[in-house]
Amino acid sequence: MAAGLSILVVEDDPAVASSLLPSLESAGFSCHLAPDGRTALEIMSLGARPIDVVLLDLGLPDMDGLDVCRTIRADSKVPIIMVSARGDESDRIVGLELGADDYVVKPFSQRELTARIRAVMRRAADELPPASGAGGPLVIDERTRTVLLEGQPVELTAKEFDLLAFLAQEPGVVFRRSEILEHVWDVNWYGTTKTLDVHVASLRKKLGDPSWIQAVRGVGFRFVLPDAAT
Ligand code: CA
Repeated sequence: MAAGLSILVVEDDPAVASSLLPSLESAGFSCHLAPDGRTALEIMSLGARPIDVVLLDLGLPDMDGLDVCRTIRADSKVPIIMVSARGDESDRIVGLELGADDYVVKPFSQRELTARIRAVMRRAADELPPASGAGGPLVIDERTRTVLLEGQPVELTAKEFDLLAFLAQEPGVVFRRSEILEHVWDVNWYGTTKTLDVHVASLRKKLGDPSWIQAVRGVGFRFVLPDAAT
């Protein structure tokens, strides 16, 4: 299934790159190497090579990998997997907030990395079902991944959009935390549910009203239409 997929590997350490590239290629991926952030952004903005996944080292010589992530995400939905020796939770949350799809801590096995690449590709390919219930002042367009609130665009990160679209597919229905994490992140997601709270808080803020997403204590969350509050 990996045949033809092209990966941009952003990695400044030649030793890491020279072990990573052959093993990714033997797993069937075609790889492009960017040794620094500037080259990575050039490759992405020129669009000369179609890139299916970005594997992004956070520690780069010229820029912070988090800034590279933010810049790529500003105009591309390409799946981004962050790679870092920094494994602490706050780094991971910042990375995910900036729109990274996954986060791998060094050292990792080739098998783990390949599994994660395939998982983000699967999620990118899985179109979420169209939001049926979003209505009133809120319009969620799955095809263009845009959200309008009273006609005004709401800027969401990739994960915020997925979270909103997932909850809004069935307004009023309470989704369990584990269910949400599994669908919006990954079955293998091993972060804490704090990530979910961070995203809910950010969504509420961007929607300008906390009542769109109600917390159900000890269970999870539900999306509520303003005129259907129960
Ligand atoms: Ca590095």
